[in-house]
Amino acid sequence: MLENTQVCPICNTTTNVEDLSDRDSYNVNCPRCGKYIITDGALTMFQRSQLVTKILSVSYWIRQHQSPKSKPSITIDRMRKILIPFISPKPKEQADILLLWIGSNVEKPDAETSVPLSSLLSVIGAVDEKGIQYVAYYLKDKGYIKHSGFSYSVQDGRRNPPVDLLRAQMTFKGWEKYELMKSSTGGKQTVSSRSIELKDHKFFTEEINIEIEDLIKRGESDRIEYKGSFCFNVNKYLMGNGTEEIDGTIALKGVMKTIVAFLNTNGGKIIVGIIEKRHLSKIHDDKLLELVEFGDYYLLGIEKETVKAGRDGFELKIRDMIQEHIAKDLIGLIKINFAEYCGKELCILSISMRVNVWYYLDGKFYVRDGNRTIELTGNDADNYKSRIPL
Ligand SMILES: [Zn+2]
Repeated sequence: MLENTQVCPICNTTTNVEDLSDRDSYNVNCPRCGKYIITDGALTMFQRSQLVTKILSVSYWIRQHQSPKSKPSITIDRMRKILIPFISPKPKEQADILLLWIGSNVEKPDAETSVPLSSLLSVIGAVDEKGIQYVAYYLKDKGYIKHSGFSYSVQDGRRNPPVDLLRAQMTFKGWEKYELMKSSTGGKQTVSSRSIELKDHKFFTEEINIEIEDLIKRGESDRIEYKGSFCFNVNKYLMGNGTEEIDGTIALKGVMKTIVAFLNTNGGKIIVGIIEKRHLSKIHDDKLLELVEFGDYYLLGIEKETVKAGRDGFELKIRDMIQEHIAKDLIGLIKINFAEYCGKELCILSISMRVNVWYYLDGKFYVRDGNRTIELTGNDADNYKSRIPL
């Protein structure tokens, strides 16, 4: 149930929310997001999400899916797909959208249009109101619009407190540009069909550590591997029986094997706390709420393993197992770091290689073969070891 029906449940902008209780849904007409219907379940998922950019992502998605004929309906399934890190359009693209928007919203060529900055946020995909000002100044510098700064206004009688407005007028040059863009986009007023492509854009959250972002975006390869956990039984847990089981054999079959393979091949990085979707058979609905969806992966984080002993304890456990099962002299070859991403804590193991020194996990020899880890025995292992180092 929604507690406040006076604000948009996604972005908190003042508006009226209609409770469609017969359908367990809400009908919202938000000045920022636009019109949409959202189910109770989807709203719960949104409220529980740890994604730092969740308002930006969902509000922008709704705005991009406005159509005169129907309004987007957000179910749990839909919410799961749109709760991904926010991808802001490039500044140039934002400028184009803003010019198209102004052009289609002035009543006559010499008229001035006036709009609350907050309502424009999700139209152009800016992260905050400063971002809109930035883009508007660009359009002004280019000579496409004239604007009298950003006034503080109480013109909108329903609004309390007053809001910042963009007041803009198109120039003759702006109209030319507008007509040109309109014809090249087939007359569409906004780029509403643009899909949110993860790989082509930059994330806009400051909290994100660039290295981890890069590692996640690159995906798995011969030198990058994702693991759901070190010792925690992820599968059992996510199936919903509530089991929080710590099991050393999971590390031996997973992270430890990969460490040895990286040591024996070209080195690499293991990111702990990320699960490949295809490795999960069944996830309980409640548990899905704890995951952040990310393309073919789920971010789970390592909180379950660090909650008791902290990061230091977690690192110590990894080092102990390496000493016990691989070798004692690996200190300089394996670095252990932690990073936060989308509200999830991840552990990054960076493994270097040493030329012509071989490592074993409890006597077994592993190497990297593409993005797989394989065991080599007998002649295969001997041949591998006699190769000329790259
Ligand atoms: Zn809204």
